[in-house]
Amino acid sequence: MEVLYMGTAADERIPAMFCNCDLCRKSLELGGKNVRTQAQVLIDGSLLVDFGGDTYSHFIGAGRTLWDIRNVLITHSHPDHLTLEVFQQRYHWMSAETTKYPTLKLYTSAGVIEKIWRVAEARGLDRGMIEKYLEFIPMEYYRPVEIDGYTVTPLPARHALPEQAFLFLIEKDGKSVFYGNDTGYFDESIDEWLANNGKHIDLLSLDCTKGDVETPYYGHMSMKDGRAVADRFKARGIIDDETKLYYTHFSHGCKMTHDELERTAKEKYGFNVAYDGMFLKI
Ligand SMILES: [Zn+2]
Ligand SMILES: [Zn+2]
Ligand SMILES: [Zn+2]
Repeated sequence: MEVLYMGTAADERIPAMFCNCDLCRKSLELGGKNVRTQAQVLIDGSLLVDFGGDTYSHFIGAGRTLWDIRNVLITHSHPDHLTLEVFQQRYHWMSAETTKYPTLKLYTSAGVIEKIWRVAEARGLDRGMIEKYLEFIPMEYYRPVEIDGYTVTPLPARHALPEQAFLFLIEKDGKSVFYGNDTGYFDESIDEWLANNGKHIDLLSLDCTKGDVETPYYGHMSMKDGRAVADRFKARGIIDDETKLYYTHFSHGCKMTHDELERTAKEKYGFNVAYDGMFLKI
C-alpha cells in the first residue's frame, strides 16, 4: 500500500490562522515541513480518509483533483475531518460532468450521518441533491467492510463523544495500516480484538496533538501515550520491529518545530514524525 499524508495537523493547523505564538511565527518563517494543514491521508491514490476543509488544496497540491475518488472514510464530524461545503461541489450545476461520475461513497458511523443531516437541514442544504451524488454508508465498531479490495474495520476512538468516532484498520494484499487519530488513550478492547483476530500492523499512525506536553484533555494523545499504545501492541504481537511507527495530527500547542518534534520522537519514544506531502510505501 502507498500512503500519502496530505495533511498532518489538528483543526487549527500550523501556523494557526489567528495565532502569533513562537511556534506559529517560526513555522511561517521556516516553511517546508513546519507548515501543517488539516489531517488527511490518501491510500494508493484512491481511498481517501477524511474530508476536511483543506481537501481542495491537498489535491491541487498533489497535482490532481478528486474526479476519480470513489470512497471516503470519515473518522468523525469535526470540521478538520468533514466539511459539508464540499458536498455541493458534486451538484450538477457546479461540475461540468457530474452526471457521468459514479456516486461518491462516504463510510462513517451512524452518529456522524445523523449529524450530517441535522447540520444540512440547519444550513438549508437540499437533502435530495446531496443524496443524488453522495451515498452514506454506516459502519459499526469491529465490523469489517469490503471496499474495492480493501478490508476496513472501524475501531472505537475516544473522541467527539457521543457520536462514535472511528479509528481505521485498513488491510489489503497482506499489508495493513492502522490510522489512529483523533483519539485519546485507547481502550484495551482494541488490543484484544486485534490480537484475537490475528492482526499484524505494518504502519501504526497515531494521534500526537499534544506533542510532548501532557494536558488533561481526554480526546487526544501525546508522544508518551502513543509510545504506551505501541508497547501494548508489541506485547501482544500486533506490531513488531518492522512496523513503521508515525505520529501525526499535531497542534501548535506542542510548541515544537518539525526538527524538534523529529528529534524528541526518535530519541525519547522511537517514533517517526509525519509531515504534509509525506509518502510511505508499506
Ligand atoms: Zn482532528
Ligand atoms: Zn500558534
Ligand atoms: Zn476531532
